[in-house]
Amino acid sequence: MSKHLSTSEGQVQGVCKLCGHKKLEVIDHTAKCTGCGALLYYPYPDDSSLEVDTEKESVEDIQKSWFGYYKMASKLNHENFSHMFLFTIPEPEEFFQKNLKILDYGGGGGQFAFVVRSMLPMADVHIVDINDHALIDQYSTLNKQIKWKDFEKDETLFDYIFLNDVFEHVNDPEAVLKNLSVKLAPGGRMFIDTPKQFWLYPVLRRVNRKLYSKLLKGTVSRAHLQIWTRKSFEHIVEEAGLKLEKYEELSEFTLKPHIYLQNMGIRSPLILWLGNQFYKNAKLLAKNKIQALIVKK
Ligand SMILES: [Zn+2]
Repeated sequence: MSKHLSTSEGQVQGVCKLCGHKKLEVIDHTAKCTGCGALLYYPYPDDSSLEVDTEKESVEDIQKSWFGYYKMASKLNHENFSHMFLFTIPEPEEFFQKNLKILDYGGGGGQFAFVVRSMLPMADVHIVDINDHALIDQYSTLNKQIKWKDFEKDETLFDYIFLNDVFEHVNDPEAVLKNLSVKLAPGGRMFIDTPKQFWLYPVLRRVNRKLYSKLLKGTVSRAHLQIWTRKSFEHIVEEAGLKLEKYEELSEFTLKPHIYLQNMGIRSPLILWLGNQFYKNAKLLAKNKIQALIVKK
């Protein structure tokens, strides 16, 4: 991983890595900041433990695992990506003839480019991911890949940078925003879609600690390092010297309910039933995501 993009300087155990507040409430493998409200994977892992060394991994295994993911998620991804794209560019007709430069940061297998280019065929969709081999052959044709090691020195400026389900994964969100803002063309925008906490978190925490532990198990991990609140999100945008242009909270899921419940290790039939009912009605019940547009000041 590029040091420049992953710096974890300033991450001190016992201090909120997002807002610097000194009171954290530690439960299981998480810490909740009593200042900004963010839920953090804790203790903070060493920077090096997050590195992905593609040299050591089998390319075939990486592609297989992305295929397995798309088998479960491609339909909902397609819907969600369309929504994210239109949140960012509500009138694609206005840009139809333009060769917009778009970056899919942390784009993984590369499905997003299909959604973009179905509405903007003249756009260039660049993709970069910490794992170069994640981009599957079947989706690679509509993407222009920038290799991870080349990204920092790449001089392309982008009209739009998308971080679709990426901001919860990055070790140092402020550094990522600062580094990406340098790559925005004049008038450019960054889009972020990332999980946030909602009422279920404080309620379970108060009334059923055991179920709260399962919720934490299913939502916070070495991969999902922070679950945001509006306050923590706004704070980090401000700290990065940027401005929030548009902000929305919505209900959005990538996988079918039983997979989330499985990840939480829930086996009780009653809780499974309740969980399934929850997910079926989640659009009415929970706003679990942040979508935002960020611009330079
Ligand atoms: Zn905080």
